[in-house]
Amino acid sequence: CGIVGYAGPSAAAASSRPVDVALQGLARLEYRGYDSAGVAVIDEGAVRLTKRAGKLANLREALDGAAQTTGRVSIAHTRWATHGAPTDLNAHPHLGGRDGELAVVHNGIIENFASLRAELEGQGFPFLSETDSEAAAHLLAREMEAGGDLTEAMRRTAASLDGAFTLLAVHRDAPGTVVAARRNSPLVVGLGEGENFLGSDVAAFVDSTQEALEIGQDQVVTVTADDVRIIGFDGHEITDATRYTIEWD
Ligand code: GLU
Repeated sequence: CGIVGYAGPSAAAASSRPVDVALQGLARLEYRGYDSAGVAVIDEGAVRLTKRAGKLANLREALDGAAQTTGRVSIAHTRWATHGAPTDLNAHPHLGGRDGELAVVHNGIIENFASLRAELEGQGFPFLSETDSEAAAHLLAREMEAGGDLTEAMRRTAASLDGAFTLLAVHRDAPGTVVAARRNSPLVVGLGEGENFLGSDVAAFVDSTQEALEIGQDQVVTVTADDVRIIGFDGHEITDATRYTIEWD
């Protein structure tokens, strides 16, 4: 239902900035309604998920004392369940891969999730939830195994999904990067000073920056602290994305 992403600079010491930005963004997106919330960071070279059914207060409580991270990215989600009950396990982010090497958040509905899930389960990918979204997480992991970087794997993944989706992903082997894709579901980039943001709408990052970049239909965007790169699902580079200043009061 609501999505937030953050890519910041590498820091000498642990910081709570990635988690703080995520929680602040999710709070801004609360108006949309939701039944669960969660956040993923890359900590000490591993994906760390915290997710809870219920109000944001439950997630905050779970993160109490665990907001510090040595990582510099986060992805976060408020869920409005369409496939699977509103439980901790069905809350996003979802791990992808045989070893939980990546995490994904998803807005929307993946129409062809059942056939994808059957195929991926047959190949040994461990499914933990009842959501349609988890199929996208494991598909992304399989595409990483097939070769190419996170951007290329996301491009191939997104091109094979039917339905409506905004997807954000982080991977333990790309600790400064958030990759995202959209089809029939909104996605905006926020441009900061030495840090960048992603959101399902500008409310997700308006506390940090008013400079935004519109992501078009069927596009993949790769965001680091100081770079934003956009390609189409067909692989061609997008250089004419609309940049604008958010009017907010
Ligand atoms: N279809 C997904 C689920 O049920 C995502 C729902 C949403 O957009 O929050 O988990």
